[in-house]
Order: sequence, then C-alpha cells, then structure tokens
Amino acid sequence: MKAPAPVGICPMCRKETKLIKSHLISSGVYPLCQNEMREHVSVTSDVIRPTQMETKEYLLCSPCDNSLNTNGERYVIPLLPRLGGRFLLYDRLVKQDALEETPSMTVYAAAENPEIDVAKLVHFGIGILWKASVCSFGNGDKPGIDLSEEDREAMRRFLVGEAKLPMRMALAVAVESGAIRYPATIGPRPGNNSDFKNFFFYVPGVMFQLYIGANVRSARGAYSINLSPKGSVMMIELAKTVRGDMNKGSKKARKTKKLLRIVEEVEAKGLSIKLGD
Ligand SMILES: [Zn+2]
Repeated sequence: MKAPAPVGICPMCRKETKLIKSHLISSGVYPLCQNEMREHVSVTSDVIRPTQMETKEYLLCSPCDNSLNTNGERYVIPLLPRLGGRFLLYDRLVKQDALEETPSMTVYAAAENPEIDVAKLVHFGIGILWKASVCSFGNGDKPGIDLSEEDREAMRRFLVGEAKLPMRMALAVAVESGAIRYPATIGPRPGNNSDFKNFFFYVPGVMFQLYIGANVRSARGAYSINLSPKGSVMMIELAKTVRGDMNKGSKKARKTKKLLRIVEEVEAKGLSIKLGD
C-alpha cells in the first residue's frame, strides 16, 4: 500500500499543505538521457552511472510544482537535444546573427529572438538551482547548493513572481556548439570560479551557471541571460567540459563500464553527424 502524502510547509509558497514528490531535475529530462534500457547517465559526487532512479523528494505542494512546470520546464525541455536528433534551442539561436564571436564562444541575443522565451529559460535554471538549495534529495544530509538565507529567499521570490532576480546574481546559459551532445545530467553543484560564489548544472545540451557576488554585474553581466539587456546566451563546446567533469567526478566516484559504453556510443554518433554521415 502506498503511504499517504505527507503534510508539511511547502518551501516555495510557505503554506502548510499536502506535499508531493518533486523532481530535482524535471522528469521530462530523463527520457532525453535514456538508452535502450531506459537508463540515464547520472553524475553525483559518489557515482557516475546509468540508472533508472530519478532524483525526487517530497518537497513542494502541487500548485508550486506545477508552476515550475508551466513557467519553465514545459517550455525548455522540448528545446533540448534528442539523442542523434534535433536540437531546437540550437536551431533557433543560429537563425540570427551572433552578437559576438571569440575563438572559444559565440554569443547570441536571445531576448531579440522571437522564437526564444528568455523568462522561461531563466525560470527553469533558477528553479532547479533553488530546489537544490532547499533539499538534499536524499544525497547526504545537506542541500547540494549552499546559499545564504538572503539568496535563497531572493530566488524564491523570483520563482513565485514577487520580485526580479537581484543584480548580484548572474545566470549564464551555455548551449552546446558541437555535434556531441551528452545525454546526461550533472549537478546541481558548486563550480570552480574563484571570484564569485558559483553553481552549475547540466541537462542534455545546455549548462546553467549561477554566479553570485557584489561585482557580478560588471564582471559577468555581458554574458548573463538575466543581466544583459539582450539576454545573452553563449554557445560553446560543452562536450569537453562535460566529459572533463565526468572524469573529474570519477576520481571519487565509481564509474561503471556501461557508462563508458554509452559515452563511446554518443561520441561515435556525434562524430558521424559531424562528418555528414
Ligand atoms: Zn507551495
């Protein structure tokens, strides 16, 4: 018999109510990462493996969970890459000329692109990072993202539509430029920037990075989707970073043979697309 849903304080609306199991990374992302065994690649600090387990916990009330869906997830997930298939976010971005091109990245003005909803991209990114700051999702006893009470509250108010994100927070959205799009999820976890408090997570084809600090606007504003007036979205070769992260993580974590096989398959598929195969 299924246990009844617990009653508690929903951390998003702060009402005492029935709580439902909320996913850390939206449930709709999992099918994008699944192999023929319906397993996805999951990277945590302990283990990198193909798994059928989804990270979820009794956390939010149903209306709040739904609002994360309506305001972000439902829009963003269909834009993420299908294994060996289309990648709509990429396709829509490259329809317009780039704002800036450097050897390592191309920057696009998403706010000037009628096919891209910047507000929903930001809501999606902040929603997942905020959930990771209020709940450990069964991975240890502390949330994966350590935020000050003030920062957590600022993100909560943004998510419920009470306030804009503060100027001390820069959300950067990086889209995979190459043909290898890892069908994996990573994080949310702390990043390695030494100038600012920073966190990131990866879903297939897109990395969301949050930088927090007093001078973040002058240092990072131009490349942040919420602080730049044009809604900057970067396109970079994420595969290297993602692969590096899987390797770095694997020093501590167990890495399974099956994962290596999936990674090889994805790389082979990506390369064959690149070669026009
Ligand atoms: Zn709620």
